[in-house]
Amino acid sequence: MNPDAEFQNLIRPHLLNMKPYGYIAPLEVVSEDGGFPAGRLIKLDGNENPYGCSPRVRKALSEYPYYHIYPDSEQRELRKALQEYAGVPAEQIVVGSGSDELIDFVMRLFVNPGDRVVNCVPTFGVYQFSTESYGGQVVSVPRDGAFAIEVSAVKEAARAGAKVVFIASPNNPSGNTTSIEDVLEVLGSQVIVVVDEAYYEFCGQTVIPLVAGHPNLIVLRTFSKWAGLAGLRVGYGIFPRKFAERLFRVKPPYNVNAAAQIAAIESLKDLDYLRQTIRAIVSERQRLGTELAQTGLLQPWPSQANFVLCSVLEGQAARIHRELRQRGILVRYFDTPLLRDCLRISVGKPEHTDALVAALSGIC
Ligand SMILES: *Cc1c(COP(=O)(O)O)cnc(C)c1O
Repeated sequence: MNPDAEFQNLIRPHLLNMKPYGYIAPLEVVSEDGGFPAGRLIKLDGNENPYGCSPRVRKALSEYPYYHIYPDSEQRELRKALQEYAGVPAEQIVVGSGSDELIDFVMRLFVNPGDRVVNCVPTFGVYQFSTESYGGQVVSVPRDGAFAIEVSAVKEAARAGAKVVFIASPNNPSGNTTSIEDVLEVLGSQVIVVVDEAYYEFCGQTVIPLVAGHPNLIVLRTFSKWAGLAGLRVGYGIFPRKFAERLFRVKPPYNVNAAAQIAAIESLKDLDYLRQTIRAIVSERQRLGTELAQTGLLQPWPSQANFVLCSVLEGQAARIHRELRQRGILVRYFDTPLLRDCLRISVGKPEHTDALVAALSGIC
């Protein structure tokens, strides 16, 4: 027997057929493939903040003297700052290496192999990815024609023995929110409901006030989108007290590195600056939608986030994606049945919208 194969048998079986997460290619790779200098690429595929992080973050990181010391495992200073920002006691806040890690923590707390997790599709891919990596079983409940969750179908799936329901609001990639009434309805089923508010700052709607009265509600947030910290990996979760306490006993001790903690703290000290960039993005979102509709090539969906999902003529999404890429413009294409005729375009600076619209007029 091939000795390699022998030890392969030791890998946990549920991992063998798992589909890898379709992450976006790093800038250097796209730049090399397309022959564009990285600085000239227009990156509208990752919902990142085109204005970058706060200048306070850069300064604080360059001056920090203690990179050789382990970071605070309990993230005290950051959680104190978040207590004020999010309006919940620090004891209920847990910080992660991106909210992706919080999704993993939810699995760690609740999902045994075989347990069911409800996913309102199309939605953010990490819910499925994380569920499968813990051997859980994903129950996909399709959204309706306008991407709203089907509350009665979600409740039915929850009652049929699911442990966790994920609801992204605003949803990625559709950009629409789920109403507080709908979240309340789902909370009435005896399951853990995770509301992922990764794009909260672009819409202002939150269910955080509900956490106090609902011992089965978890809310996730991130610094990746609004605060321009995607590369540093910092997100947080608001948990019912008992879950937060448990999580601090089972999470990896130094899960959020020192640079990420400093960057998040400095961001929260520079809200005036960051809110200015959020306002610029929200107003550009409006213009981007209008301009894209006028091309006749794309039909934008209304968005409460920092991206716009667009329907395109049947069978054209892959081609438009490819041709834009050849022109140095990156947008997100999903090769999945529910999104085959869609492209997701992040809101950039006004000049990025102009370049995109000009490129589209050359494509038809
Ligand atoms: C981008 C995104 C995240 C991940 O954020 P990180 O903090 O960068 O891990 C989580 N949820 C949704 C819905 C997202 O779109």
